[in-house]
Amino acid sequence: NYEAECPPDKEILGRATWTFLHTMAAYYPDKPSPMEQSTMKSLLSSFSQFYPCGHCAEHLRQEMKVDPPKVESRKDLSWWMCGMHNKVNEMLGKDVFDCNKIDERWRDGPADGRCD
Ligand code: FAD
Repeated sequence: NYEAECPPDKEILGRATWTFLHTMAAYYPDKPSPMEQSTMKSLLSSFSQFYPCGHCAEHLRQEMKVDPPKVESRKDLSWWMCGMHNKVNEMLGKDVFDCNKIDERWRDGPADGRCD
């Protein structure tokens, strides 16, 4: 029943967007071509222009000026994204995420196999 659903608030939108961004980074090529690297840079730049939470997008653009996206490999992009998310976590008083666990969280799942 779609009529009962509300538009996303900042939290729902944020959770969905981080899911997309971390998963995209987790499946980015290990050795991206120059074209893939430049496409990823434009994607993130466009994203930071149109993310539909104005002050979140503004903050992201500031952070991206200081620490531009690292698109040279899957690992670089995944760690860069983790760092960006941690800056937001810190700003919001949330726990900092251990970036060593990024593949377990967003690609491989835990060793006990419960997500297989
Ligand atoms: P989320 O922060 O949404 O995280 C979802 C899941 O990601 C977590 O459960 C955890 O498993 C995993 N995770 C957590 N940290 C990391 C990490 N560092 N690396 C990898 N995985 C991780 N909200 C505001 O109020 N103000 C803002 O300025 C703001 N800016 C934002 C900017 C962007 C680009 C995005 C995408 C969101 C922003 N948000 C902002 C929303 C905010 O980050 C959260 O998404 C929202 O508060 C919901 O938080 P949550 O506790 O459900 O978990």
